[in-house]
Amino acid sequence: MILRLVDLDATFLERIGRTIVYRDGLVGANGIRFCCPACSVADPYVKAHPVTIWLANRGVPDDAAPLPHGEFRGDGVHNLTIWTAIETPCWRGRIVNGCASIL
Ligand SMILES: [Zn+2]
Repeated sequence: MILRLVDLDATFLERIGRTIVYRDGLVGANGIRFCCPACSVADPYVKAHPVTIWLANRGVPDDAAPLPHGEFRGDGVHNLTIWTAIETPCWRGRIVNGCASIL
């Protein structure tokens, strides 16, 4: 199953110390947040809880949760790829070319 990040309300984040602000694009961003793909599929009528992924080497402390942080490629939500497998209690998947997969 593949879901587009734009359909999961994906938003870039900038973490500054312990403060997190939303960003319109990748400029200044060091993370991304979107609705959990697995729970969005399980119940399309309820807004799923958010999933956050920190982008590696963008100023977020290496041990900041959630881990792992991901190297990325792309210039926006529409074509973002993150080079790490993501595993949460309810979702295991990848972000490739602006889409979230459920493994
Ligand atoms: Zn979930």
